[in-house]
Amino acid sequence: MDPTTPASSSVHLSNCSRRDFISAGATLVAAGALGRTHLDAATAPAADRIIDIHQHVPYSKRTAEQLMAHQKAMGISLTILLPAGSRFGLAAGVNPYPETKALAEKHPDQFRWFANEVSDQPDAIDVMRRQLKAGAIGIGEQKFNVDCDSAAMERVIKLAEEFGVPVLMHFQQGSYNHHIERMPKVLEKFPQVNFIAHAQTWWGHISKEYDEKVLYPTGPVKPGGLTDRLLSDYPNMYGDLSAGSGYRAFIRDEEHARWFFAKHQDKLLYGSDCSDPVGRGPACSGSQQIESVRKFAPDEKARRKIFFENTRRVMKIKV
Ligand SMILES: [Zn+2]
Ligand SMILES: [Zn+2]
Repeated sequence: MDPTTPASSSVHLSNCSRRDFISAGATLVAAGALGRTHLDAATAPAADRIIDIHQHVPYSKRTAEQLMAHQKAMGISLTILLPAGSRFGLAAGVNPYPETKALAEKHPDQFRWFANEVSDQPDAIDVMRRQLKAGAIGIGEQKFNVDCDSAAMERVIKLAEEFGVPVLMHFQQGSYNHHIERMPKVLEKFPQVNFIAHAQTWWGHISKEYDEKVLYPTGPVKPGGLTDRLLSDYPNMYGDLSAGSGYRAFIRDEEHARWFFAKHQDKLLYGSDCSDPVGRGPACSGSQQIESVRKFAPDEKARRKIFFENTRRVMKIKV
């Protein structure tokens, strides 16, 4: 997770998304007294389906019921739930694995789930192997105080290789998965493992010469950042669009955002990772990022990849 509420964007996009829905001939449903309209996820035509790869339960005291309402308000068809390890709660009040799996199994039409454990805990691999055997479709989010190329992370990555599942990593220099600049060697060492990168340090590096000090940098992006290089050079590197960090990486420079979405349309996965209970408006980075994808992706085909097809391929989801 990466909980910072995004700054309110000066760009108001809701009219744009409504036009998209209407042009798609989608079924529109009334959304309460505000008179807003949105797609009901359960009745959305295939072209409008969105997989959200990054949510938690509970999340900063948001309950399972509130999460489900939130996902419905955003128009999400399928949500990937990421558990905490047995300790630390991802610094956001997230429950460990059993509660996550229980909710997902109760609503198999709405959820899939990942395995997770604290990277350097002695029994971490045994714990996650059991979780993967029980149906988890990936590992993460790995948000623990280790180097990204540590022996502990190598064990986690080897487990992902064994099961053919991706690893989702929270990069935040000084706190979690330190030294992102060493990722090229990790990607080369494990070419069969798909890595999904997320959070402040990953998205800060969308701009060249990022100093890793400001968590949410603003202003024009200088092309050629580490994020662009890793996505360009390594077929097994993917970007998770979730959270305030993912949202802000694009609103800071709209021209660069259009270029980036066009170039990396096969490598970006939509995720929300917001903890608000409403699922719309300025407090909800997830719904705002949906609007950004609609605005910045070059065409409908690219939007479908980012919202749905890339995730279905990387996570081997049959929907
Ligand atoms: Zn995170
Ligand atoms: Zn939200």
